[in-house]
Amino acid sequence: MNVLGFYKHRITVARVHDIPVRIDYRWFVVFFLSVWLIAVNLSHSGMVGPGFKVNPQDTGSSWILGVIATLGLFISVFGHELSHALMGRAEGIEIDEIVLHPFGGLARLRNEPQSPGAEFRIAIAGPAASFLFSLVGFLAMFAATIPRYNTVAAILFLISSGNLLLAIFNLFPGYPLDGGRVLRAILWRRTGDIAEATRLAGICGMLIAAILIIFGVYMAIAPNFRSYFMGLWSVLVGLFLFDAAFSVVRQARGPRQDVVSQAMSAPFAIEPEMTISQLIDTVLPLHRQAAFPVARARRLHGILSLEDLKSLPRDRWRLTQAGDVMRPIAPRFFVEPNATLDYARELMKRNGVGSLAVVGKNGELVGFLQSGKFKRRKRARNAH
Ligand SMILES: [Zn+2]
Repeated sequence: MNVLGFYKHRITVARVHDIPVRIDYRWFVVFFLSVWLIAVNLSHSGMVGPGFKVNPQDTGSSWILGVIATLGLFISVFGHELSHALMGRAEGIEIDEIVLHPFGGLARLRNEPQSPGAEFRIAIAGPAASFLFSLVGFLAMFAATIPRYNTVAAILFLISSGNLLLAIFNLFPGYPLDGGRVLRAILWRRTGDIAEATRLAGICGMLIAAILIIFGVYMAIAPNFRSYFMGLWSVLVGLFLFDAAFSVVRQARGPRQDVVSQAMSAPFAIEPEMTISQLIDTVLPLHRQAAFPVARARRLHGILSLEDLKSLPRDRWRLTQAGDVMRPIAPRFFVEPNATLDYARELMKRNGVGSLAVVGKNGELVGFLQSGKFKRRKRARNAH
């Protein structure tokens, strides 16, 4: 099973906080299974919980209650992912999408967190939200038992326990679970080596996945359990996690992701007051570039693309300044030094100028990237 290919089959159902929410079509199978499981249990044996008792229901009500409880559970999963996404955004990372898939959800961030602290906060935001949902749900459930709203209490009980499970399960310390990301952040902070931290957290993830698989098989065949469904589910989740953890471990062992700072060239910028004729007479013969960052005192003002000058009549070259014809600064024209090269390539393909200014943390111009002209610099590796 290929994790990347796995996420391809999905449909966009909503945009929340400008984040596309997509659903993997196999998710609908799981949704139906969950409705069915709850409905069958409610119609056969009803439900008994803390402070409430629901007698076996007729088929119609069982299915309606199954749908309501399942919707509540999946909205909770979405809330968990949204919490990761909003924390990511607060850390300055763009969010590509939230995907709901058969085994839960995923908030896909465009870049890796830039520091262990950021990684920790983004990872912990999901389980924190789930704990909160579960707490609020249990309180509402106890409130509902007072006037004996038994079915309401039963639904709230299912949703709250689901959230509690989601929070606890996600805190298992193995990548790609949230607890694994927390572990990675801690190792990363201790050693300063993100690749090694990722590898170790991935190995823990593989161990947890293996335990889930073994436990699932045991549940299915042990005489005192014989819970085929839960066993099979545990095996499937285990296989899914194992695959994701394994690919992370393999990647961390292989060549590291190249980042922008390794490929950028030193920034050569022109001032906004430079006229186009000056640019063509004095700068172009020395710097054969298709675009130039426009900056004053290392502060980026925009990007001037030679392509844009084609429409400017020759007799205007003397009077026109770079600042008049440059493209003003916009997110698609710059990256941070530790963004990945893959991301930078993608941005250059789409931004219409084929180049990017590299801007440091305080907004200062630190480098320049042009598609097809990457400076190859040998990466420093730890010898020990
Ligand atoms: Zn999570």
